[in-house]
Amino acid sequence: MGQKKADFPAHFFANIGKPLQKFIPLRDYSNFKIGGKADYFFNASSIMELVVSVSLAREHSFPYYIIGGGYNLLFDDDGFRGIIIKNSVKGVRRKEKKTEIQTFAGTSLSHLIQFTIKEELSGLEFLAGIPGTIGGAIFGNAGAFEQSTGDYLKEAELLDRKGEQITVNRDYFKFSYRQSILNKKHDVLLSATFKLINGEKERIKARIEENLEKRKKKHPPQDIACAGSYFKNPVLPDGKRTPAATFLEKVGAKHLTKGGASVYPGHSNFIITQEGASARDVIDLAQELKKRVKERFNIELEEEVIFLPADSSLL
Ligand SMILES: Cc1cc2nc3c(=O)[nH]c(=O)nc-3n(C[C@H](O)[C@H](O)[C@H](O)COP(=O)(O)OP(=O)(O)OC[C@H]3O[C@@H](n4cnc5c(N)ncnc54)[C@H](O)[C@@H]3O)c2cc1C
Repeated sequence: MGQKKADFPAHFFANIGKPLQKFIPLRDYSNFKIGGKADYFFNASSIMELVVSVSLAREHSFPYYIIGGGYNLLFDDDGFRGIIIKNSVKGVRRKEKKTEIQTFAGTSLSHLIQFTIKEELSGLEFLAGIPGTIGGAIFGNAGAFEQSTGDYLKEAELLDRKGEQITVNRDYFKFSYRQSILNKKHDVLLSATFKLINGEKERIKARIEENLEKRKKKHPPQDIACAGSYFKNPVLPDGKRTPAATFLEKVGAKHLTKGGASVYPGHSNFIITQEGASARDVIDLAQELKKRVKERFNIELEEEVIFLPADSSLL
């Protein structure tokens, strides 16, 4: 502990054997295609690289942030004053003679889905079509069709705040709608074990196809820059969670634009961006949408998309 911040890049190279990348445009790592340059960037491709890079950043009090696929993130126009660590540690295996699969956190959800088809394991079909990694999906308890990632999690390996690698069970995460404890604790998810049930390949495939068809009807095509639903679905005074789009629709969201950011005509809760759009455009548009919904319905919409200010950190 107590290492000097300025020594971080040299110590990084000495410990990991790879140089840090400098001044990397974050727009290339966010599905919004927005974001200035990060001072430093590292693509961690093994557990050792992930653990050591995070531990070194913490020891040197060097601002850092972990990303997965960047499908739920809005980077700052000013980039990031520290190091962005992209988790690219991938791989999935079936636990012996069990209906459990263990997957590294950098594995994509689409790869995981393909694996469950091959292994004839059912449960995660609802995740089909949600872009990103396991790490992002557990962090935000990603879900669709009334099911969420946490429902199937058995246990996970983490790098905790003390720098220890620990195994925790599902309860540790305190999952709720689009939320887990990771948001508060800033542990790094290393791997996850899901408990599934035996299923038939053709049935699993059919459910996946059905889900993908439903998504196609309301979501923008893959080449459109966005980060999925911008706002969480609010809970009304009667306790019912109601789609944010219902309210956004009624305040004329679909006709609103700010600079290069606009609301997707097919779904009022999707903010989409054009080439040249800035984070400021997206934030301004979101603010306007929130203001309108608050004025008309007295509902405070909360962002699902995570904005990462240039001077923030997980330290
Ligand atoms: C077209 C589209 C459709 C979408 N549909 C849905 C949907 O139906 N349901 C839904 O829930 N979401 C949806 N999303 C949002 C997004 O796909 C999910 O939030 C996804 O889980 C993000 O994963 P990611 O790897 O890209 O995370 P990132 O965006 O890279 O990161 C998100 C957060 O997770 C944290 N994180 C990532 N990896 C780790 C790790 N290993 N340890 C600790 N923290 C970590 C990051 O620090 C960050 O705070 C959609 C997005 C798009 C673009």
